[in-house]
Amino acid sequence: MHDPRISGLFAAADDGELLIGGERASDLVERAGDTPLFVYDRSVIDRQIAALRQAMPRGVELHFAVKANPYQPVIDHIAGQVDGLDIASAGELEFALASGCDPGEISFAGPGKRDRELDAAIRAGVTLNCESAGELRRTLTIAEMLGETPRIALRVNPTFDLKGSGMRMGGGAKPFGVDTDQVPALLRRIGEAGADFRGFHIFAGSQNLKPDAIIEAQAQTVALVAELAAHAPAPPPTANIGGGFGLPYFPGDVPLDLEPIGAALAETLANRPAILKDTRFILELGRYIVGTSGVYLTRIVDRKESDGQTFLVTDGGLHHQLAASGNFGTVIRRNYPLVHAGRANHPPEETVNVVGCLCTPLDKLGDKNDLPKADVGDLIAVFMAGAYGRSASPERFLGHPSPIELLV
Ligand SMILES: *Cc1c(COP(=O)(O)O)cnc(C)c1O
Repeated sequence: MHDPRISGLFAAADDGELLIGGERASDLVERAGDTPLFVYDRSVIDRQIAALRQAMPRGVELHFAVKANPYQPVIDHIAGQVDGLDIASAGELEFALASGCDPGEISFAGPGKRDRELDAAIRAGVTLNCESAGELRRTLTIAEMLGETPRIALRVNPTFDLKGSGMRMGGGAKPFGVDTDQVPALLRRIGEAGADFRGFHIFAGSQNLKPDAIIEAQAQTVALVAELAAHAPAPPPTANIGGGFGLPYFPGDVPLDLEPIGAALAETLANRPAILKDTRFILELGRYIVGTSGVYLTRIVDRKESDGQTFLVTDGGLHHQLAASGNFGTVIRRNYPLVHAGRANHPPEETVNVVGCLCTPLDKLGDKNDLPKADVGDLIAVFMAGAYGRSASPERFLGHPSPIELLV
């Protein structure tokens, strides 16, 4: 529990058992009725949001990117504490609306929105972050048929990227957003059609642990928004300047320091061009809000030796937690933090491999982990499971049951 990636987030009982939201891991499994399960600790979510509010300049709004964790109780919990939700499908639109979030504070991004999704979004009154000329054409046609005024923001493919990101989403040829040279023509079209112009959306990258890179991208983003705003039918009411705040998933990763980012953003905004004086600035974050809150609990079903190594075979695996297996956007596989849930803070006694139950060598949750002695029936806890866990894993692969989810 002294792992810097999770230190201070989870405690252990006197006998060493992992506590999540103050409850014993084994009690949570009993409550859920089976393993594997994802447990999300709301106090960790609250803590992340509080840290963001504390560090970011007053007035900068915070959106939650639903795709990071679309479990309805999690969305409902977060919706009450952020300023809006960002969605990427009609399915997520349903979740967002069910949370009670004001449709005016929901924005819908993503390439390849189908006509029925544009229709649903326009009817609901959410902002469409338009990704292309073709999508703008379809949006305006559907809105006219419905007799509605669509809320439209333009997603722009920035000319720069967020340096050192786990996932690059801007710069060069991309399926996301509109290239800057195409922006003036589309803004003119939005104005001519009498649509409700909501502003700009620029997302330059994700999973970044370098404050300097984030600071630079934010400054470049605000400058780009100001430049493009000169072509807009009206000054942009909002500017979604992306996010990309990363989490320390791997050994040696250092948690992101929010303070310098907030200070630099305050300065960038204080010096912003006059055309943006009434613009509301939005940060959209997924993993930073929920990632650390989640723990994946899985039970050891077998213990075996092979060629001098010990394998703990669990009932979980990459069909629930693909990211921990190293197969979701990482080049080199490294271990997520993991403990023996019954003896979470006991000293290590052996080196083991923790694997899942799938018939593939990719299904590895821990490679050469130092753990206290673990046996069949014991629980393993894999941390950093709150974002891109269940919903970002191939759940149907091999036909095992769905994991259970709990918000505590
Ligand atoms: C995925 C995504 C996010 C959330 O990214 P995180 O790394 O989880 O913070 C935000 N905005 C857009 C446009 C995205 O595609």
